[in-house]
Amino acid sequence: MSERKPVPYNPASNVRRCPVCDKPSYSASGVHPQCSLAKADAVSRAARKAADDLAPPAPVQPKLNRFQKQCPKCKRVVAPRRFRCDCGHNFDASRARSGAKAST
Ligand SMILES: [Zn+2]
Ligand SMILES: [Zn+2]
Repeated sequence: MSERKPVPYNPASNVRRCPVCDKPSYSASGVHPQCSLAKADAVSRAARKAADDLAPPAPVQPKLNRFQKQCPKCKRVVAPRRFRCDCGHNFDASRARSGAKAST
């Protein structure tokens, strides 16, 4: 349900425009009271966001799917069928050591 507000037929050009919403404002300050509130809110929100940006972002871990495995030595993601990493790490040896069961 939308209700259209009547558009003034002859918009006065000498009316001050609200710097926030860029619509004619008839208030003494030239800013709609609700707009000055919204502006203050946006400023405080921006300050809060800036504080958030200062915080270091969480390190992004590479998302491994079941068709990938990561070398525990060099952290490189390699194909699961490879049993030897480029760094020389032997996956077969680590698997044998951890005693992983073969899933059926
Ligand atoms: Zn306004
Ligand atoms: Zn490696």
